[in-house]
Amino acid sequence: MQDLYGRAVSYLRVSVTDHCNLRCLYCLPRDGARFHDPASLLGWDELGRVVAAAVRLGVRRVRLTGGEPTTRPGLVDFVRRVAALPGVEDVALSTNGMLLAPMAPALREAGLRRVNISLDSLRADRFHELTHFGDLHAVWAGIEAALAAGLGPVKLNCVVLAGINDDELLDFAELTRERPLHVRFIELMPLGTSHPWARERLFPVARMRERLAERHALEPAEVEGGGPARYVRIPGAPGTLGFITAMTENFCSGCNRVRLTADGELQPCLGSLLAVDLRGPLRAGISDAELTRLVERGIRAKPERHLMEEYLAETAGRRMWTIGG
Ligand code: SAM
Repeated sequence: MQDLYGRAVSYLRVSVTDHCNLRCLYCLPRDGARFHDPASLLGWDELGRVVAAAVRLGVRRVRLTGGEPTTRPGLVDFVRRVAALPGVEDVALSTNGMLLAPMAPALREAGLRRVNISLDSLRADRFHELTHFGDLHAVWAGIEAALAAGLGPVKLNCVVLAGINDDELLDFAELTRERPLHVRFIELMPLGTSHPWARERLFPVARMRERLAERHALEPAEVEGGGPARYVRIPGAPGTLGFITAMTENFCSGCNRVRLTADGELQPCLGSLLAVDLRGPLRAGISDAELTRLVERGIRAKPERHLMEEYLAETAGRRMWTIGG
């Protein structure tokens, strides 16, 4: 369906849990991270009903995210359920990859089409430091398993932090020459724990492009997916490099997505506090028709643009692990 500004909303991101097995520097507090108690998270059936309502309204692509979706038992069956909904064309997963290796074949068999794996460093010690618990070898096993299972195009999401990992841009570029991996460099947003220092650590896409262009003649490339990334390729490389200008170039006019948080809020925009509570009505026995109307209301509430460039206190520290990125 179209929102008030004529944008076709066809993409739903579903945070299936707020729990995460990592503590990325810019996302979750290392000590005292607060998670919802399990009873306040939507159950699989409740999540399934919301996804079905969104599909009735024209959603065609669904991404499961979190928190870390692979930590929630029942994920494979949920993928099967979503993939079987008439109208769904694409089911994808965002994961940190730590638990992916043994699950990849079953996820593929259940109908998952592709994965995005977060990876902010190619250096084991730095990766561990940035994520607190992360094991680069486990993530690599997950990446290999995703490639082997045919969960492609496999995209690697790298949040670039000035002075922390920006010295690895060329290493990531090298990786795309060796493997069919699509590295997406993302600008840091003032969300989660990063808010107080997000401005200082922002490494703009324009500077990323300059640094890469010093070494490589890059050519435009196309990669499947409906998101805001713009891609280039080192000529002849099997992989690509993508850029997501989350902060320096607003792509709201082409935004096609809404989000369902783990605790049952429909959020029409990552950079605004607007939300429609679905959990209350779901638990009060709402019918599917009424639920569809509520989801429609959430889509209609989608604001024209987000307010992240302003680094506003009210969107500060939004809990990415509940919203799902
Ligand atoms: N656990 C999964 C993962 O690691 O991909 C899914 C959830 S995670 C919140 C989704 C994405 O949000 C990750 O790629 C993460 O790097 C990104 N993210 C979290 N906080 C961010 C921030 N402040 N700025 C930019 N990206 C952020």
